[in-house]
Amino acid sequence: MRCDHYNMVVERKVSVVKNYAKMSTTYAPTLKEDPAEAELASHKLLLRAGMIRKTAAGLYSYLPLAWRSLRKIEAVIREEMEAIGAQEMLVPMVTPGELWHDSGRWEKYGPELMRMEDRHGREFCLGPTHEETFTDLVRNELRSYKQLPVTLYQIQDKFRDEMRPRFGLMRGREFIMKDAYSFDATVEGMQRTYEEQKDAYARICERCGLRALPVVADSGQIGGDTSVEYMAVADAGEAELVYCECGFAADTEAASAGITVAEGESGDLQKILTPGCAAIADVAAFLNMSESGTRKALAIVTGEGKPAVVFVPGNHEMNDVKAEHAFGEFHLMTDEEIEYYGLVKGFIGPVGLPEGIAMFADRSLQQSEWWVVGANEADYHFVHALRGRDFAISDDHWVDVATAQEGDACPRCGKALSAARGIEVSQVFQLGTKYSEAMGATFMDEDGKEKPFQMGCYGIGVSRTLQAVVEQHHDEHGIVWPVCVAPYEVEIVPLDVKGEVRDVAERIATEAVRAGLEVVLDDRKERAGVKFADADLMGFPYQVVLGKRGVKNGMAEVKDRATGERVDVPLDEVATWLTHAIVPKRA
Ligand code: ATP
Ligand code: MG
Repeated sequence: MRCDHYNMVVERKVSVVKNYAKMSTTYAPTLKEDPAEAELASHKLLLRAGMIRKTAAGLYSYLPLAWRSLRKIEAVIREEMEAIGAQEMLVPMVTPGELWHDSGRWEKYGPELMRMEDRHGREFCLGPTHEETFTDLVRNELRSYKQLPVTLYQIQDKFRDEMRPRFGLMRGREFIMKDAYSFDATVEGMQRTYEEQKDAYARICERCGLRALPVVADSGQIGGDTSVEYMAVADAGEAELVYCECGFAADTEAASAGITVAEGESGDLQKILTPGCAAIADVAAFLNMSESGTRKALAIVTGEGKPAVVFVPGNHEMNDVKAEHAFGEFHLMTDEEIEYYGLVKGFIGPVGLPEGIAMFADRSLQQSEWWVVGANEADYHFVHALRGRDFAISDDHWVDVATAQEGDACPRCGKALSAARGIEVSQVFQLGTKYSEAMGATFMDEDGKEKPFQMGCYGIGVSRTLQAVVEQHHDEHGIVWPVCVAPYEVEIVPLDVKGEVRDVAERIATEAVRAGLEVVLDDRKERAGVKFADADLMGFPYQVVLGKRGVKNGMAEVKDRATGERVDVPLDEVATWLTHAIVPKRA
């Protein structure tokens, strides 16, 4: 058989010639000084390396280098989603207000929702998340249990009018998110899908070079029962975490840690003069006892408008998020309110509390019967106050409101917890039927009955992830990109841009590109010092330095940006050497 015809077809296939980039024309305007607007190292470096620019508060432009990294992060996400059968698609960023009214979130979401009207006065919002849109999408057309489970996702800009947009890409008002929504027939199915997404999220973090902890989280605005956040560990993170060597980790907002409470001494109830001791530390010092043995009293007005006092161990804080779960939209009493309700600031206690004020206590205090507390009288405390004898907390007034902290017992294994800070890069939720019920999204089950979908939702902050990578990978000279998400893998730095050195630089750049590497050549007519400083600032993983003498001796110097190690490599072997170093480190 003759094959000419087939050969011809193959030859006619268009092949794109890959080329290396040139630094002289790369749009990456670098800055010598730290920009005043930036606090975090990662924010400063992304600005200084010419990767992002602020267009307005919370609105950033991604310049070409940042965009290359973002596309790599997205590629990792796409691979991991495809591997578990999630399907990529795209819905409009603009969401009809109607859908948000359906779910009840139009009112609930507050001023973070960027709302607008069209020319006919119809309400819309710029999507901060898309549960409504996706639920609406399937509610009429995904009909049978036979079609389930289905997981749909998109990578798209999201909009949130954050109260304090800051830290560059960390908290923007427009940012890139990957968001996925799963529809299952059963709770078990939803849990399985959730676990798959959760595992994929762990791999995504790892493949992007992030050290991240999966932490038990509060489910916030989205709602639902079970949720995990991936926290990139970094001192600059906004979230406070507790974690244990056994693998347990939790946001302090959600952790129900085993708080150990010191028991007070037994005896007859005794009122003691504690002059000026309104603060816990002063009381503990005055009575020569541990802060944990005292009780902190917080006067609040609950979401229902009722006055209440909440007790937590003296050495712990009350957590706002937990307290909101317990009391609704509560607030701490103002000085005027404290007075109005007949309380004495700094000396509030459970014995002789004015009438009509409810008492609540953190569950950890169930361990202790003998309390040291304020006497509801200026400058006085009670010691030996016995629960059950001198005061009582009713059974349904034990609440989980204390913030977990370093040294509390791990709820899983009992060892002491450590504290860290983290950047939330992603979060997965089991939603159950929250949205499907509110929006009437049902399917026909095997038993012939209409049932609401069991849903999950899964979000990754793509742009935040980029900055989190920089926050974890930098030094005093600049960014230290892990290979997996580096804008380029190699920078060729000829110290002479004419004659033989230039020829060799171009040849090596071409060879490296042909070997499949991503290469930028610093062809600028700049001093060596400037080129080195910029190379370190931009932080591509490998630098190939070519000087006159080296080239004459047939050698290039290859520097590993992460370790600072330099090796001399024969000019002919540079491309191969780089390939061996780089390919195994790709995402
Ligand atoms: P945060 O608690 O930081 O405000 P969130 O819990 O409200 O975030 P989600 O609704 O879980 O955020 O959104 C999914 C992901 O989107 C987050 O894990 C985070 O990585 C990213 N993200 C959320 N808000 C922003 C923002 N303002 N700027 C950049 N990324 C964001
Ligand atoms: Mg979140």
